Amino acid sequence: MTEAYRNVIVLIEKEDIASHDCIACKACERVCPSFCIELEGERPGGLKRTRVTEFTVDFALCSECGLCLDVCPTDTLGYSRTYDEAGYKRSDFLYDLLDDWRDGEQDTVERLRKLEAEKAEEKKRATEAKKAAAAKKAAEAKTQPDASSGEIEDD
Ligand code: SF4
Ligand code: SF4
Repeated sequence: MTEAYRNVIVLIEKEDIASHDCIACKACERVCPSFCIELEGERPGGLKRTRVTEFTVDFALCSECGLCLDVCPTDTLGYSRTYDEAGYKRSDFLYDLLDDWRDGEQDTVERLRKLEAEKAEEKKRATEAKKAAAAKKAAEAKTQPDASSGEIEDD
Protein backbone atom coordinates (compact mmCIF):
# COMPACT_ATOMS: atom_id res chain seq x y z
CA MET A 1 0.00 0.00 0.00
CA THR A 2 1.53 3.31 -1.03
CA GLU A 3 1.53 6.61 0.82
CA ALA A 4 -0.80 7.99 -1.85
CA TYR A 5 -3.48 5.38 -1.07
CA ARG A 6 -6.84 6.97 -0.32
CA ASN A 7 -9.80 5.55 1.50
CA VAL A 8 -12.34 6.85 3.96
CA ILE A 9 -11.03 9.71 6.09
CA VAL A 10 -10.13 9.02 9.72
CA LEU A 11 -8.92 10.99 12.71
CA ILE A 12 -5.25 10.38 13.31
CA GLU A 13 -3.34 10.54 16.57
CA LYS A 14 -1.11 13.52 17.27
CA GLU A 15 1.99 12.55 19.22
CA ASP A 16 2.07 15.62 21.50
CA ILE A 17 -1.39 14.96 22.94
CA ALA A 18 -1.63 11.19 22.41
CA SER A 19 -5.03 11.58 20.78
CA HIS A 20 -6.64 13.08 17.71
CA ASP A 21 -6.67 16.88 17.77
CA CYS A 22 -9.99 17.74 16.16
CA ILE A 23 -11.04 21.13 17.52
CA ALA A 24 -14.38 21.06 15.68
CA CYS A 25 -13.52 24.13 13.62
CA LYS A 26 -15.71 22.74 10.82
CA ALA A 27 -13.29 23.80 8.07
CA CYS A 28 -13.46 20.29 6.61
CA GLU A 29 -17.26 20.26 6.76
CA ARG A 30 -17.44 23.61 4.95
CA VAL A 31 -14.92 22.72 2.24
CA CYS A 32 -16.24 19.25 1.41
CA PRO A 33 -17.72 19.44 -2.12
CA SER A 34 -19.77 16.30 -1.53
CA PHE A 35 -21.37 17.47 1.74
CA CYS A 36 -20.50 14.19 3.38
CA ILE A 37 -19.04 15.46 6.66
CA GLU A 38 -21.14 16.34 9.71
CA LEU A 39 -19.63 17.23 13.04
CA GLU A 40 -20.28 18.98 16.33
CA GLY A 41 -18.06 20.01 19.18
CA GLU A 42 -18.01 21.52 22.65
CA ARG A 43 -15.45 22.97 25.00
CA PRO A 44 -14.99 20.84 28.11
CA GLY A 45 -14.83 22.86 31.36
CA GLY A 46 -11.40 24.25 32.13
CA LEU A 47 -10.09 23.63 28.63
CA LYS A 48 -9.23 26.34 26.12
CA ARG A 49 -9.74 24.22 23.04
CA THR A 50 -12.95 22.75 21.72
CA ARG A 51 -13.19 18.98 21.28
CA VAL A 52 -15.25 17.29 18.64
CA THR A 53 -18.21 15.36 20.04
CA GLU A 54 -19.87 14.05 16.86
CA PHE A 55 -18.12 13.32 13.57
CA THR A 56 -19.71 11.32 10.77
CA VAL A 57 -18.66 10.82 7.17
CA ASP A 58 -20.88 9.42 4.46
CA PHE A 59 -18.28 7.49 2.51
CA ALA A 60 -20.87 6.64 -0.15
CA LEU A 61 -20.67 10.31 -1.17
CA CYS A 62 -16.94 10.91 -0.66
CA SER A 63 -14.86 11.42 -3.81
CA GLU A 64 -11.57 11.18 -1.86
CA CYS A 65 -10.63 14.60 -3.17
CA GLY A 66 -8.49 15.33 -0.11
CA LEU A 67 -9.69 18.91 0.42
CA CYS A 68 -10.69 18.17 4.00
CA LEU A 69 -7.14 17.01 4.79
CA ASP A 70 -5.69 20.11 3.13
CA VAL A 71 -7.67 22.58 5.23
CA CYS A 72 -7.43 20.87 8.61
CA PRO A 73 -5.52 23.34 10.84
CA THR A 74 -4.34 20.63 13.22
CA ASP A 75 -3.42 18.02 10.60
CA THR A 76 -5.52 15.45 12.35
CA LEU A 77 -7.24 14.00 9.28
CA GLY A 78 -5.82 11.13 7.27
CA TYR A 79 -6.95 8.22 5.16
CA SER A 80 -7.82 4.83 6.56
CA ARG A 81 -5.39 2.09 5.54
CA THR A 82 -8.12 -0.53 5.23
CA TYR A 83 -9.00 -1.66 1.73
CA ASP A 84 -11.82 -4.15 1.98
CA GLU A 85 -14.93 -2.21 3.00
CA ALA A 86 -18.10 -3.90 1.89
CA GLY A 87 -21.75 -3.38 2.70
CA TYR A 88 -25.26 -4.33 1.74
CA LYS A 89 -26.81 -0.92 1.98
CA ARG A 90 -25.75 2.67 1.68
CA SER A 91 -25.95 3.33 5.41
CA ASP A 92 -23.18 0.75 5.90
CA PHE A 93 -20.82 3.45 4.62
CA LEU A 94 -21.84 6.04 7.16
CA TYR A 95 -18.79 6.14 9.43
CA ASP A 96 -18.55 7.42 12.97
CA LEU A 97 -15.02 8.79 13.16
CA LEU A 98 -15.09 8.92 16.95
CA ASP A 99 -15.79 5.23 17.34
CA ASP A 100 -12.19 4.44 18.34
CA TRP A 101 -11.73 7.52 20.47
CA ARG A 102 -14.74 7.79 22.77
CA ASP A 103 -13.44 5.49 25.51
CA GLY A 104 -10.25 7.47 26.02
CA GLU A 105 -11.78 10.94 25.70
CA GLN A 106 -12.03 11.67 29.43
CA ASP A 107 -8.35 10.82 29.94
CA THR A 108 -7.45 12.96 26.93
CA VAL A 109 -9.32 15.94 28.35
CA GLU A 110 -7.48 15.55 31.67
CA ARG A 111 -4.16 15.33 29.83
CA LEU A 112 -5.01 18.45 27.80
CA ARG A 113 -5.94 20.35 30.96
CA LYS A 114 -2.50 19.57 32.40
CA LEU A 115 -0.73 20.46 29.15
CA GLU A 116 -2.57 23.77 28.89
CA ALA A 117 -1.80 24.60 32.54
CA GLU A 118 1.89 23.82 31.96
CA LYS A 119 1.93 26.00 28.85
CA ALA A 120 0.24 28.87 30.71
CA GLU A 121 2.81 28.58 33.52
CA GLU A 122 5.65 28.58 30.97
CA LYS A 123 4.21 31.66 29.29
CA LYS A 124 3.87 33.42 32.66
CA ARG A 125 7.49 32.63 33.54
CA ALA A 126 8.69 33.88 30.14
CA THR A 127 6.73 37.15 30.52
CA GLU A 128 8.13 37.70 34.03
CA ALA A 129 11.68 37.02 32.79
CA LYS A 130 11.16 39.48 29.95
CA LYS A 131 9.86 42.15 32.35
CA ALA A 132 12.79 41.60 34.71
CA ALA A 133 15.27 41.88 31.83
CA ALA A 134 13.63 45.12 30.65
CA ALA A 135 13.70 46.56 34.19
CA LYS A 136 17.39 45.63 34.55
CA LYS A 137 18.20 47.28 31.24
CA ALA A 138 16.35 50.43 32.26
CA ALA A 139 18.19 50.55 35.61
CA GLU A 140 21.55 50.09 33.86
CA ALA A 141 20.71 52.88 31.42
CA LYS A 142 20.02 55.23 34.36
CA THR A 143 23.46 54.61 35.88
CA GLN A 144 25.28 55.26 32.54
CA PRO A 145 26.79 58.78 32.11
CA ASP A 146 24.66 60.97 29.87
CA ALA A 147 26.51 61.13 26.51
CA SER A 148 24.53 64.20 25.47
CA SER A 149 25.82 66.28 28.45
CA GLY A 150 29.13 66.84 26.62
CA GLU A 151 31.23 65.96 29.70
CA ILE A 152 34.52 64.23 28.91
CA GLU A 153 35.71 61.73 31.46
CA ASP A 154 39.38 61.72 32.57
CA ASP A 155 41.33 58.50 32.14
S1 SF4 B 1 -12.05 13.62 0.74
FE1 SF4 B 1 -13.23 15.27 -0.29
S2 SF4 B 1 -15.25 14.41 -0.61
FE2 SF4 B 1 -14.24 13.09 0.88
S3 SF4 B 1 -14.83 13.90 2.88
FE3 SF4 B 1 -12.92 14.93 2.33
S4 SF4 B 1 -13.54 16.82 1.30
FE4 SF4 B 1 -15.34 15.47 1.35
S1 SF4 C 1 -10.71 20.68 9.83
FE1 SF4 C 1 -9.63 19.32 11.25
S2 SF4 C 1 -9.83 20.32 13.25
FE2 SF4 C 1 -11.34 21.27 11.89
S3 SF4 C 1 -13.22 20.10 12.25
FE3 SF4 C 1 -12.19 19.14 10.51
S4 SF4 C 1 -10.93 17.50 11.40
FE4 SF4 C 1 -11.54 18.87 13.06
